[in-house]
Amino acid sequence: PFFKEYLPNLETGMPDLVAKLNANENPYGPSPMALEAFKNAAAGGNRYAWKELFQLVGKIADFEGVQSKNIMMGPGSSDLLEKTAMVLFMNGGNVVSADPAYMSLIRVAESVGATWKPVPLKDDWSHDLKAMEEAIDADTKLVYICNPNNPTGTITEHQELVDFCSRVSQKVPVFVDEAYLWFLEDGAKKSMVSLVNEGKDVIIARTFSKIHGMAGLRVGYIVAQESTLNKLQNITRGGMGISYPSVYAAIAAMDDVAFIDKSRNLNAECRDYVYQSLDQMGIEYVPSHTSFLIFPIEMEGKAFLDKMTELKVGVRAFEFMGKNWCRVSMGTMDEMKMFTAALNKVLV
Ligand code: PLP
Repeated sequence: PFFKEYLPNLETGMPDLVAKLNANENPYGPSPMALEAFKNAAAGGNRYAWKELFQLVGKIADFEGVQSKNIMMGPGSSDLLEKTAMVLFMNGGNVVSADPAYMSLIRVAESVGATWKPVPLKDDWSHDLKAMEEAIDADTKLVYICNPNNPTGTITEHQELVDFCSRVSQKVPVFVDEAYLWFLEDGAKKSMVSLVNEGKDVIIARTFSKIHGMAGLRVGYIVAQESTLNKLQNITRGGMGISYPSVYAAIAAMDDVAFIDKSRNLNAECRDYVYQSLDQMGIEYVPSHTSFLIFPIEMEGKAFLDKMTELKVGVRAFEFMGKNWCRVSMGTMDEMKMFTAALNKVLV
């Protein structure tokens, strides 16, 4: 593995940023309807949200076209990525994923004794599905796919991924992390969720943190076979970590389609603006399908982060494929202008 990430200093690097573009958060959220529901529900916080959680699960099941027994809730999808890793890898094994990938599930799998089998993305930045299938061996307990991928913001062709998941899930479960899928114009059509109804052993992760703008309210879920969820829920508890008002906020957020569309459109506008600015600066970038994008930087990652932080702009830096990269999240247009101004000072 040749993937390295420079983490921001949470204590000193974050609080006085004027443009916080380092965590792929939605700058416009939570949606007005979610916020109202959260405020109204706060007084119910002396109760556990069992009944309300059941209602949210039913609503999600309808939305996804599956049954309630196919849904497991968590305080953000991180919780479910981590629980899956802990339960599936408690007796070792290996996890196959792209490199670079979103590392949350992989790091927890490693920490309970699994090994990571990284498979480099292809030159067009899509998953090398053929090589990933070849990497599966007798010890493989899970294949992890993040589509669109983080930190690259790139996608893998829909039908190829459907075929891969259908075939490979007969041997080993496939986990598809769709945190950013809703930023695609036709995201709903690109989900792998329908494979659950076909009986395939796939686990699809979704979150309210991104397009719904609820990263700090902590709601996410996975969709999978009942038998898979039973395995996870025999040992861990789904939904227990979600706060009472957050359940209400999620129920309301699902109905706030205007906000979801607004987030998608403004995100695309900001992305176009950043593309143009990078073009003007003569900086190449990787076209993105998400709420963030990456581009190579001619500077060591830590030094770059420090300089950007001095200018009060928070971004992320990575090292992979023998290069240093900046990953910038889409904020408001004003924040993106601060970002490009800072970048001009630091790089040009
Ligand atoms: N999956 C991916 C690909 C992500 O980028 C993130 C957060 O950045 C998550 C999952 C976890 O998000 P949350 O725990 O807020 O649902």
